[in-house]
Amino acid sequence: MKITRVETFAVPPRWLLCRIETDEGHVGWGEPVVEGRAATVRTAVGELTEQFLIGADPLRIEDLWQQMTKGSFYRGGPVLSSAVAGLDQALWDIAGKHYGAPVHQLLGGPVREKVRAYSWVGGDEPAELRDHVQQQVEAGFTAVKMNASGRMNRLATVRDIEGIVGRAETARDVLGPDGDFAVDFHGRFTAANARKVLPHLAPYNPLFVEEPLLPEYPHLLAGLVAASPVPVATGERLYSRTDVLPALQAGVAVLQPDLSHAGGISETRRIAALAETFDVPVAPHCPLGPVSLAASLQVAFCTPNFLIQEQSIGIHYNTGAEVLDYVVDKEPFRFHDGHLARPTAPGLGITVDERAVRAAEEYDAWRNPAWRHPDGSFAEW
Ligand SMILES: [Mg+2]
Repeated sequence: MKITRVETFAVPPRWLLCRIETDEGHVGWGEPVVEGRAATVRTAVGELTEQFLIGADPLRIEDLWQQMTKGSFYRGGPVLSSAVAGLDQALWDIAGKHYGAPVHQLLGGPVREKVRAYSWVGGDEPAELRDHVQQQVEAGFTAVKMNASGRMNRLATVRDIEGIVGRAETARDVLGPDGDFAVDFHGRFTAANARKVLPHLAPYNPLFVEEPLLPEYPHLLAGLVAASPVPVATGERLYSRTDVLPALQAGVAVLQPDLSHAGGISETRRIAALAETFDVPVAPHCPLGPVSLAASLQVAFCTPNFLIQEQSIGIHYNTGAEVLDYVVDKEPFRFHDGHLARPTAPGLGITVDERAVRAAEEYDAWRNPAWRHPDGSFAEW
């Protein structure tokens, strides 16, 4: 079998899909994207295709992964790792279809029968939070995630802290003692600010606090973890085993690799195995589209140290299109009491609606919101 063609589709709300075609009729789908940089990743996918993929055997996934990640002197980082990630997903999709098995079966078989997922409840508007958590509970979810705050001062004021604590109190009140909420600090906090705020969250027992520190400060992470009374999660902006190692050594409680950023199914599996040696579970990051979610689920079903899956159905970022718009059969993404069932179809387990993808408007308009402090200086989003 040989790869004959690789196409990419930039589709709303902010995704890039890739489609690998072979001379034996098998087609694989992947989702290589960096949110806000779809066109940049698309260029990288084109370069990798030309250099390594056309004419290659798609079943030699590991060899292609090695070439794509190490076959140029400058390597790594979000753009290149995300390009490889989506192509890797598509290769696994082809392998599953070729062998007539879901990807998780090829990776050792299922270790669980269902996967717990959480829903987003925004959090930028605290007034609506109670209703949003309530809606997710009524939809059967047992866990939600929210932002801790909007734009954050470099050191939180009493009002800032009251706003964060108020959100946690509301979520805990609605969820009761059996539910879970996670709080995303989104890299909006300075290290000192995180240390100041985290103790205030402890009484409400969040499942974890995400990215309390920007990923470019790994040297500060161990100190923050030691000072934090709540479990610390990070990883959506780390792209390889070597990237996550300092976070694991710093003692994070949960690792959140993104299947569309961290080298795809191949590397996320290895990241999970590395995390296992630190007794750390993984909670794959996935605010993305259907192929990324399908790839995440394949890993979740065969990974022993899996905790919970993020998914973006109904997320506040998705405007103009939804995860379900691009799949023929919606059943693989139907929630049963906040869980997703084990996919049994070959490959990634979904049927991408190729007509919908091809008909979708070429779209690359989503950009990271730009925030500023009241004095006019740059503020982290
Ligand atoms: Mg996050």
